[in-house]
Amino acid sequence: MGLRIHFVVDPQGWLCMGLIIFVWLFNLITIPNVILFPRYEEEHISVGAIFCFYILAFLCIISLLRASIADPGRLPENPKIPITERDFWELCNKCNMMRPKRSHHCSRCGHCVRKMDHHCPWINNCVGEDNHWLFLQLCFYTELLSSYVLLLDFCHCYYFEPLNKVNLDLFVFRHELALTRISTFMGLIMLVGITGLFYTQLIGIFNDTTSIEKMANCCEEISRPRKPWQQTFSEVFGTRWKILWFIPFRQRRPLRVPYHFANHV
Ligand SMILES: [Zn+2]
Ligand SMILES: [Zn+2]
Repeated sequence: MGLRIHFVVDPQGWLCMGLIIFVWLFNLITIPNVILFPRYEEEHISVGAIFCFYILAFLCIISLLRASIADPGRLPENPKIPITERDFWELCNKCNMMRPKRSHHCSRCGHCVRKMDHHCPWINNCVGEDNHWLFLQLCFYTELLSSYVLLLDFCHCYYFEPLNKVNLDLFVFRHELALTRISTFMGLIMLVGITGLFYTQLIGIFNDTTSIEKMANCCEEISRPRKPWQQTFSEVFGTRWKILWFIPFRQRRPLRVPYHFANHV
């Protein structure tokens, strides 16, 4: 099974994603040049602190790009439906195609997506069964990177000793203080925004409920047997090996292919 690339043509989505990449690039250039390298030269931080920053930034961009171009779980035009699973399929009244229950039609992408959670403009893609794990990794690494950037900004301004080798006039002239403040502002926005999103995502997986199901069933209980959280998370990440839940350089394979049919009542 090769890597299926999925590209959504949506200028609004490109704009949102461009904004995220801009924030990432801004920090990638500003933080090492204004904080990490000068602080390392004056022996205020170790080389490990620089490595940590680059590793987190790399994991963030990899999970963003993979979540954005991964196929979220688009249905084939003529799916082969096993006889035993016929009862668990239904007809989509928008694209007139058969789809397993728990799928949803995304009007933004124009097709049905298996176990769709929501359409995310920030990654310009749907979040569905096949890329939900990458979206969770993106939230997780963005949380870590934003927290780390905020910590560096704070230490740079209030905790570390003043830099000796940096000319203060040059420091002000090159707007380094302003750049640090902008980076702090962006870090706060990202951290607060992603914390809320990440929390609702984790609760959704604990309860084995997608965001769309939560909205649709706000008035009625979802009648599905409750599964342990280890199982629901393993199904999302496609593996029971918890260490692999954090690795974006792998291919996800469904844990048990028909699990969402078998468990749907
Ligand atoms: Zn459809
Ligand atoms: Zn979509």
